[in-house]
Amino acid sequence: MQLKTILNRVEKYQSFVYGKIQLIENDHPLELEINLRSRQNSRPICSICGRKRSGYDTLPERRFAFIPFWGILVYFIYARRRVDCSTCGIKVEQIPWAQGNQTITTTYVWFLARWAKRMSWSEVAESFKTSWHHVFQAVKMAVSWGRQHMDISGVTAIGVDEMQWGRGHRYITVVYQINENYKRLLWVGEKRTTKTLLRFFRWFGKAQTKKLEFICSDMWRAYLKVIAKKAGQAIHVLDRFHIMSHMNKAIDQVRSAEAKRLVSQGYDPVLKNSRWLLLKRPENLTDTQQASLTELLKYNLKAVKSYLFKELDSHKFLLPLFLLAASVFL
Ligand SMILES: [Zn+2]
Repeated sequence: MQLKTILNRVEKYQSFVYGKIQLIENDHPLELEINLRSRQNSRPICSICGRKRSGYDTLPERRFAFIPFWGILVYFIYARRRVDCSTCGIKVEQIPWAQGNQTITTTYVWFLARWAKRMSWSEVAESFKTSWHHVFQAVKMAVSWGRQHMDISGVTAIGVDEMQWGRGHRYITVVYQINENYKRLLWVGEKRTTKTLLRFFRWFGKAQTKKLEFICSDMWRAYLKVIAKKAGQAIHVLDRFHIMSHMNKAIDQVRSAEAKRLVSQGYDPVLKNSRWLLLKRPENLTDTQQASLTELLKYNLKAVKSYLFKELDSHKFLLPLFLLAASVFL
């Protein structure tokens, strides 16, 4: 059985035919190049208006990644035509196996996106010998397809997260729906700038944004800024880990300032060795530490206050609300 026969069973295109297929042996891993050409007398379709137009010229050949098999990378090779469209001008033709300017076939996009639901994106990239960026694009395309067919009217809680990828500081922003009974990926965008998140809100729409009750994110400034601007009515739940690390720093600052003040006023600096005491969770304190904590609590000090707030806080889900209250009372 010939490869062409199989391809015509699984991936047949009306106006295009499979031509020469060759195995490239000097590359590792092996590569299979499958040439495609347009059917004789078929007219190219304008990629802008979708109408059949007469051909203008032909662009250089391009490789489109297809699903690899047996450890062999597979590429479609095709030289796209340009059309002379009376409505749109000189435009590149529409091809059925890839969207827009993509160099990855739509079939492969869905293949990668399906695996990306089961494994981490870098595992998918490694398993199929493709780049992380291809996996990212696959998920992005699948998500954008899903978005067009998605009902977002019930989304009242979202999570905004950043993901680092590749070498250096390259980030993407992902937005999830995190309603109690419905969790799914809603949106993916490149970088983690204010512009990135603004793009999400533009897609999400004003009406739906007004319905948001909860937004969860870390303390990345660009996110905080956009969320405050676009969805000020929603309760913004900040990532617990980041808050605790900020609070520990704050307690430390208050403690050392307070210790200095006590010494300058001639008091015995109780706070001097109290750092770990304050930063530890109460259940982790030893008996001696417990005793000195009790002593420490006799002083009505700022550091002690901030300690109490922090502990009280551990039991709260809505940290930001509490912080707001704390900033009023302290
Ligand atoms: Zn056109």
